[in-house]
Amino acid sequence: MESARLTGRCLCGAVHYGSPGPVLFSIVCHCRDCQRASGSGGVPVLGVPKPSFICQGPVKQSRIIGGSGLPAVRNFCGDCGSLLFGTPESAPEMVTIYVGSLDDPALFSPTAVLFVGQRPPWAKLATPLTEHETLPEH
Ligand SMILES: [Zn+2]
Ligand SMILES: [Zn+2]
Repeated sequence: MESARLTGRCLCGAVHYGSPGPVLFSIVCHCRDCQRASGSGGVPVLGVPKPSFICQGPVKQSRIIGGSGLPAVRNFCGDCGSLLFGTPESAPEMVTIYVGSLDDPALFSPTAVLFVGQRPPWAKLATPLTEHETLPEH
């Protein structure tokens, strides 16, 4: 696992976060929930350990039952609405950072895509990636 120093913030700057890594996984999720939450064809996500993740600023949460059957909790800025990171109840030991909120999104190097069955044709990335119909088996 690569180590990293990851920092990010919302659009208006009210919320900042940081993680020393390591990056646990890097995926793009194309489930319909992520599409609706983001207004896009999918959400690029990287996972980091929760104990060393720090967030400063007022976040709001939406709790929607996700593909795991447990609530997928999306944390966003209460002022500007930027999606920032997820704290899934199915994986309480990790935080899932929404890569577009990183100070350096180029640090993201996806290895797989999830829920390709729900991915619109125009959202397929040019990079060849491992594709999972829904969630990968653990
Ligand atoms: Zn904000
Ligand atoms: Zn999703």
